[in-house]
Amino acid sequence: MQVPLLDLRAQYAPMKEEILATVAEICDSQRFILGDKVEAFEKELAAYCRSGAAIGVSSGSDALLIALMAEGIKPGDEIITSPFTFFATVGAIVRAGAKPVFADIDPVTFNIDPAKIAEKITPKTRAIIPVHLFGQAADMDPIVALAKEHDLFIIEDACQAIGAEYKGKRVGTFAEYGAFSFFPSKNLGCFGDGGAVSCDTEERAKLLKIFRNHGQSKTYIHEYVGGNFRIDALQAAILSIKLRSLDSWSEARQKNAAIYRDLFAASGIGDKVVLPQTASYSVRHIYNQFCVLVKDGKRDALKQHLLDSGVGCAVYYPLSLHLQECFKELGGKPGDYPESEKASGEILALPVFGELSAEQLEYVVSTIAKFYGK
Ligand SMILES: *Cc1c(COP(=O)(O)O)cnc(C)c1O
Repeated sequence: MQVPLLDLRAQYAPMKEEILATVAEICDSQRFILGDKVEAFEKELAAYCRSGAAIGVSSGSDALLIALMAEGIKPGDEIITSPFTFFATVGAIVRAGAKPVFADIDPVTFNIDPAKIAEKITPKTRAIIPVHLFGQAADMDPIVALAKEHDLFIIEDACQAIGAEYKGKRVGTFAEYGAFSFFPSKNLGCFGDGGAVSCDTEERAKLLKIFRNHGQSKTYIHEYVGGNFRIDALQAAILSIKLRSLDSWSEARQKNAAIYRDLFAASGIGDKVVLPQTASYSVRHIYNQFCVLVKDGKRDALKQHLLDSGVGCAVYYPLSLHLQECFKELGGKPGDYPESEKASGEILALPVFGELSAEQLEYVVSTIAKFYGK
């Protein structure tokens, strides 16, 4: 049996005709940049996220960057974030000219630990970027309280977590900004690169629109140095169609996660493979990834066994960001962020996408059990 880590073809099939019709309409119009389709999608996305506004941009990476640029981040500013995230979170901070400052993660949720953030705040701190990793919300209440106390702004990196909720409130709406990615492997993916920024006020939305178009407030009148951070009409139109099915896809992932929990409970390997835990405040985990912790230094061997048996799996992320070559100048050393480093040595993502069959899920767990001789 083959179980891919992700296969989007089954998801596409029922909406193929509708999507191709929209693509044809846009090709006939030859209007590809911004326009009605983008505006319509932005309204739908803001309604879905229950945010004040949403602005379509070129990627999740650029969503983070543009929010930092709109806040006038400058060299010397410090921004606190997690060392256990996709590279783009920290890359955006450096691209904006600021200094990333890491705060270690909570080993249970893999999200930034608010108590560790408090220790890293200095007079130079300007912002916090919590990441809602794998589709589970970070512990936002204490993070928002810290930001208020120290007059910091927040960009939630919600690139893996569209529609996830913390105490019943959707991610991307807790403070000033939320960054979303529509990279194809995210729960809501487009047909290429795309992203969005949610924000809390009309003023911020206006400013973001200026920044995404080279800081141009009127045609060829540039108030700021922005960039080309625009989203295509084609991507926006495809996303409008796909957004209508997002809840059913996320629910199918939740269902698969629940099936895994039953299968693992019955397998007798609970002390060897630790399943992802949901915090009490995380009332809606959307399982962009289902990541287990493989104990006893066996992660890489189990990964190879799964791949050899036809089960797709992957390590997100194998190297804590403070140890990356390109951030060497920040002075990070092994041992600085022990929880992040430990997670990067044990984590393994298993297939969880909605169209997996019960037989495929059973095969994944029985293949793991076999590795342990069960
Ligand atoms: C995917 C992702 C990004 C970047 O999004 P792109 O659209 O690929 O640029 C940023 N942060 C996190 C946590 C992500 O998972």
